[in-house]
Amino acid sequence: MSQSSSDKRGIECDSYKKIAKLTSDLLWEWDLKTHTMKKSVGSSEVFSSFRKKDIPQVDWWENRIHPDDRKRIVKDIRRAIQSKHKMKWHGVYRFLLDDNSEVWVSDTACIIRNSQGKAQKLIGAMRDITQRIKTEEMLRSRLSRQLSISELSRKALSENDIYQLFQLSVDQLREVLQIDAAKVLELMPDNKCMMLRAGFGWNKKTITHNTIIEKDSHSQAAYALKSKKPVIVDDLRTEKRVTGPNMLTQHKIISGMSVILCRNEGTYGVLSVHTKTKRIFTREDIDYLQSIANIISLAIQRNETEGELRKAQSQFKALHDANIIGVMYERMNGSIVNANDAFLNMLGYTRKEFEKRTIRWEDITPAEYERADLRAFEEVSQTGIAYPYEKEYFKKDGGRVSAIVGAVMLNRETEEVLAFALDITARKELERKKDEFMSIASHELRTPLTSIKGYTQILERIIQQMGDQRLHTYLKKTNTYVERLNSLIVELLDVSKIQAGKLVMNYEAVDFDAFIEESIESIRHFSSRHSIVYHGRINEVLRIDRNRLEQVLTNLITNAIKYSPNGNKVEVQVKKEGNSVVVSITDEGIGISKKDQKNLFNRFYRVESSSNSFSGLGIGLYISREIINRHGGKIWATSKKGEGSTFSFSLPLQEAFLQPHIS
Ligand code: ADP
Repeated sequence: MSQSSSDKRGIECDSYKKIAKLTSDLLWEWDLKTHTMKKSVGSSEVFSSFRKKDIPQVDWWENRIHPDDRKRIVKDIRRAIQSKHKMKWHGVYRFLLDDNSEVWVSDTACIIRNSQGKAQKLIGAMRDITQRIKTEEMLRSRLSRQLSISELSRKALSENDIYQLFQLSVDQLREVLQIDAAKVLELMPDNKCMMLRAGFGWNKKTITHNTIIEKDSHSQAAYALKSKKPVIVDDLRTEKRVTGPNMLTQHKIISGMSVILCRNEGTYGVLSVHTKTKRIFTREDIDYLQSIANIISLAIQRNETEGELRKAQSQFKALHDANIIGVMYERMNGSIVNANDAFLNMLGYTRKEFEKRTIRWEDITPAEYERADLRAFEEVSQTGIAYPYEKEYFKKDGGRVSAIVGAVMLNRETEEVLAFALDITARKELERKKDEFMSIASHELRTPLTSIKGYTQILERIIQQMGDQRLHTYLKKTNTYVERLNSLIVELLDVSKIQAGKLVMNYEAVDFDAFIEESIESIRHFSSRHSIVYHGRINEVLRIDRNRLEQVLTNLITNAIKYSPNGNKVEVQVKKEGNSVVVSITDEGIGISKKDQKNLFNRFYRVESSSNSFSGLGIGLYISREIINRHGGKIWATSKKGEGSTFSFSLPLQEAFLQPHIS
């Protein structure tokens, strides 16, 4: 190509053209004398439309710089030209294409100067870096979101004021998402209103913190609450699912997103962000908003839990300080860490004495209660609760105080247990007096009854000689009542013996099948209405107290008859289960509720709803339990109110010829 044509067609015709082909850059040359520009476009798609175009004046280039970058770039390049030493210039800016779309370019030029240092021309290369800038922007945005999430998570842990945290969250959202408004709304208990708890971008005269906002069922927030899913609204003006409620339209809101906030149980409210210009929120935007909502939800839940804990603590403190019952904190190793005045008073210690030396559980527990205490410790470490039980404590002066004690595990790691003790000495004393009275009364009643029995025997003989049938019938009836009175007195005496630990057992080897059969036979006369059906032979010899065990069977079968006024069958079932024999007595009677089943075997316990219709003292099952326990067995009841009951007891098989269990 000749020099003259090179001058005419500019940079495209000389060696730049060859170089340009090797790159995707737009090469340019700016003659500073004539202020004309020449260019050469290589393989670049972006700049391809300039390939055919001339760039006569520098203005053309300047006008193509995005208005927001123009001033900066023009100023910068002029300064480089004017400086005598600068040989190179570089700028990054947005460049406008023919269709007015913009690309990011990295423009680098070398400045050619004459011997006096005056710039003659610039030769430059412009490269499309839009993709790189977008990737950088995306990475920056991701990073800023991640930083914002971790910053907020950190604050959520330390910030105790939940509303302050809400405000911090919406401020973060403003910074990261560049939004015009945001709000945290709390759903009120009536489910009809929402309260603004934090936000920005709202008219401060009408909407401030704690403003109640009617829940418009067609609003963005209500839609999120209903669907329980994140909601993105691209354009409120055309949106079908929601209509802009007053608050949004008044503030000229167009786009937005909402996500729900959760509390411990149910929904707390909604977190929303809004823009006043149309914005298509991306998947990443909603994910980020959801992450912020998750942090807020966790903080709400923590705040609620702590609130409940604080409430429970203050309620407990009130109980502790009221000193109505003794409260103590102990470790599983037995040291009592702290106690309230009521507990110290109960044991007769002053606070000074308590603080001077550690009071240990062993020091204040009589040996016979150690087993019960160890069982309670085990219960508390396994289930967290030791249900109330009775025990005694040693007082400082060596005396004893009776208490009902219960405990809960406070902290598994430190093994701290909270125990309470209620002084029941007065009640115990009353019980002791009652037992004493009962014992004396039953003994006193027994003596005259023995005489009555003796006299009725004499009378029986006389009446037999007289041959008077009427008198004989009366005497028989008298004998029946005397027998009943006798067995009542015997039972009362048994209770006294159990209380005093003096119930004597006489064990012997007994053929169990024959024993059951005989016992049933002797009760058959008790009711003509009820048939007693016996199943199951076990063919075993057991070591039992025959009379006492017969007492148990009699009590269970007579109860089955007594409490089945409309039933007519009582079933006695005997079977082997593992190493035990289980005897069950099933009736078709009135049944027993779950609540009552727990207490049936307690002394003097009678089911209240039926106690008026059936006579009794409520001691038969108590005595039965003691007898079965003494045999090393267990007794229990299963029943449903109105649908009959089954009372069962088990006796250990392999212990039949061993030393019986002594409780
Ligand atoms: P008593 O029958 O003398 O009241 P027990 O100690 O034998 O005393 O029984 C205690 C209570 O248990 C009874 O008062 C009764 O309420 C209830 N009970 C016992 N056996 C039965 C049964 N088979 N069906 C329904 N309730 C029963």
